[in-house]
Amino acid sequence: MTLQFPFDNSYARLPDRFYTRLAPTPVKKPGLIAVNEALAHELGLDPQALASDGGLSVLAGNAVPEGADPLAQAYAGHQFGGWVPQLGDGRAVLLGEVVGQDGARRDIQLKGSGPTPYSRMGDGRAWLGPVLREYIVSEAMHALGIPTTRALAAVTTGETVVREAPLPGAVLTRVARSHIRVGTFQFFAARGDEDGLKALTDHVIARHYPEADNALELLEAVIGAQARLVAKWLGVGFIHGVMNTDNMAISGETIDYGPCAFMDRYHPETVFSSIDAYGRYAYNKQPDVAVWNLAQFATCLLPLMEGGRDKAVADATEAVHRFPALFQAAWLEVFRAKLGLETVEDGDEDLIDDLLNRMAAGGADFTNAFRGQSDGTARDAFENSALYDEWHPRWTARLAREDTTPEARQSALEAANPALIPRNHRVEQAIQAAVKGDLDPFRRLTQALANPYELKGENKDLTAPPTAAEVVRQTFCGT
Ligand code: AMP
Ligand code: MG
Repeated sequence: MTLQFPFDNSYARLPDRFYTRLAPTPVKKPGLIAVNEALAHELGLDPQALASDGGLSVLAGNAVPEGADPLAQAYAGHQFGGWVPQLGDGRAVLLGEVVGQDGARRDIQLKGSGPTPYSRMGDGRAWLGPVLREYIVSEAMHALGIPTTRALAAVTTGETVVREAPLPGAVLTRVARSHIRVGTFQFFAARGDEDGLKALTDHVIARHYPEADNALELLEAVIGAQARLVAKWLGVGFIHGVMNTDNMAISGETIDYGPCAFMDRYHPETVFSSIDAYGRYAYNKQPDVAVWNLAQFATCLLPLMEGGRDKAVADATEAVHRFPALFQAAWLEVFRAKLGLETVEDGDEDLIDDLLNRMAAGGADFTNAFRGQSDGTARDAFENSALYDEWHPRWTARLAREDTTPEARQSALEAANPALIPRNHRVEQAIQAAVKGDLDPFRRLTQALANPYELKGENKDLTAPPTAAEVVRQTFCGT
């Protein structure tokens, strides 16, 4: 049982000013919470070796594995629209990259691994709550079919971190196609570092968008990926919560599970994050914020675009302006599937909007209202079921024009509408129990959420919306 990472560290081969080389800071007493076996296999790693004492040392940052080239990445970003010229991995270290069984290159990063030159006022650590939250939610997103960073492992540190109170420290091993963000491009653009921008662009094209021939094509590809991603978020009621430009991955994966949350009761303006006082990152604002972020990305790429400044601005503007149409098409695809529609009709958008408006007015649980379409229980997800009943004949009439069997439709509806999502109160309960030393609720939740489209009898209680006492009204940044 030797732990061997087949590292090949392409980011570490980029110029020195892209990062600061440093090892994770060792912790007092590592303790294993979880190793993600399925992901370990995908990466070509031995899960047993990861869970061994030697593996635990690596996952806690106490040992640097052979072939790693640990570093903290530099980036910048707009946080809530305000420009911050210097951010960077303040509590994370990239160990290196491995090329998995599927041929895909992925970063292996420790999050909560100690201070770095980019820590600013922070301690470089994470407490158990956000680590478990990211583990649960990012793995759930993956199982829901949504591009996302993953969680390979979680460990405790045996150390206390001080937040509002003293809390148990933890480290998450995050896996991502890369950790390159819009803010990484902004870091170099803001410094007028065209060579850096060029090196980063070439790296990103080779790594993520090999079909792109130039900066404009890269921009177009990233815009398409983000349009599809945000449409998928809306399809499961996901609210990212902190869509700052440093939290938007160029790869098109969901990244940074801080104050994120899934809606129980549907309302388009829902906000959970305690620091999002003006609802900048509300559920229904996410497509607009994506455009805002992509405009920042486009601006960074202007110096690399061909044909002179005016042409570059015109081309970039046109590309960014295509986002709303791309998003709308992706959104329609997601929601058509959620209603079991395989064909395309002009009135579909209106039919979907009508349902969503009624869900908002009728106090419907988002997940159960859609899942309930497959077994006739959708109306039960409404506080005011009459609003659903009035809509239902419209849907039936539309379905009559689809050529499919009832059995095939039911499977299609089940495949498009999850029974299980990581409901906030369940995530909260899992964290509270773990703080007291009981990992069972965490294990149960992660296990159930690995198959969110399949409802086993024993998981029925996980589909229930929170009771009044269980409702989580606010979520907090994962610091
Ligand atoms: P986030 O809100 O997670 O997107 O983080 C924003 C910035 O704050 C990033 O540069 C993080 O590395 C940094 N940061 C967040 N939490 C900590 C912490 N506990 N210690 C040091 N830096 C942190
Ligand atoms: Mg971040």
